[in-house]
Amino acid sequence: MLGPVILAASRSDKMRKIVSAAPVTKPVVNRFIPGETVDQVVPIVRELADKGLEITLDVVGEDITEVEQSYAARDAYLELIGRLKELKLGERAEMSVKLSMFGQALENGHELALANVRPVVEAAAAIGTTVTLDAEDHTTLDSMFAIHEELRKDFPQTGCVIQAYLFRTEDDARRLAANGSRVRIVKGAYKEPAEVAYQNKAEIDQAYVRILKILMEGSGYPMIGSHDPRLIAITQELARRAGRKLDEYEFQMLYGIRSEEHVRLAAEGHRMRVYTAYGTDWYGYFMRRLAEKPANLLFFVRSMITK
Ligand code: FAD
Repeated sequence: MLGPVILAASRSDKMRKIVSAAPVTKPVVNRFIPGETVDQVVPIVRELADKGLEITLDVVGEDITEVEQSYAARDAYLELIGRLKELKLGERAEMSVKLSMFGQALENGHELALANVRPVVEAAAAIGTTVTLDAEDHTTLDSMFAIHEELRKDFPQTGCVIQAYLFRTEDDARRLAANGSRVRIVKGAYKEPAEVAYQNKAEIDQAYVRILKILMEGSGYPMIGSHDPRLIAITQELARRAGRKLDEYEFQMLYGIRSEEHVRLAAEGHRMRVYTAYGTDWYGYFMRRLAEKPANLLFFVRSMITK
């Protein structure tokens, strides 16, 4: 019940101001977003790499209102890629980007987001890595998939994300599985209406499995973004049935969630990538993590009361 309320708050400017300003927020935020600057996140990347994990880095931010912010987002990623190059971490870390942070919702946003993301994809390719386009709310997806297709003409390794809760996703999965794309499949983290998305957990899980089958049987590279133990076991079985080797798909989980499982799967020989978000504009990302598990909210509220 709490999840939808928190997701609604994740889009509220008033709540953003209250939560971001509360001094007790910080330690709770740090569990999911381990730094605000490149300097703070680099040691984390090293630590994860030393544990045998791969990384995907997200400079947090979304729903910008000014064109200049979209240029700043592009530059933040270029700075990050420069640092990864210096530190020779390019082959261990890819980038995840939200096109709304690159200006997708502004005037001529589709063109603006494509123009901003292209140099990031180029810079990533130059250091031997790649970029995955995150999936945001359903109204943004046609533009995201078109940008993905455009980028793949020059950079076929560019990935994108699909969300099992949307009715459209099985068709998207078929198209992406047939054209050999890198695709991250997730359950979906936004508040979506019943006209476009399953609302019930069991239905979302069933859709996830149907989509997994499509991806495993296709010619692309499936990236399984989930912490759900049942889906992880099903993935292993479907990969075996499809004759996929361990390096022909990967698992992905979020930093701060089921960390022992990251290490366990990597030790079993799986490629395990940890989605690591950093930056100052963490509100939307943080609120989605609270919405996924109401116990996180209790922890957050308790820390406010006991301070
Ligand atoms: P759930 O059934 O929600 O969780 C399974 C178990 O995992 C829970 O029982 C709990 O033990 C643990 N768990 C899950 N979430 C949390 C949490 N927040 N805090 C503590 N424990 C938790 N969504 C998008 O819409 N677009 C994206 O681009 C996107 N990218 C993602 C990238 C990665 C690598 C991952 C892992 C997720 C991404 N998501 C994205 C979020 C996703 O849609 C889900 O909201 C999120 O993964 C929770 O679903 P789950 O599959 O882990 O299953």
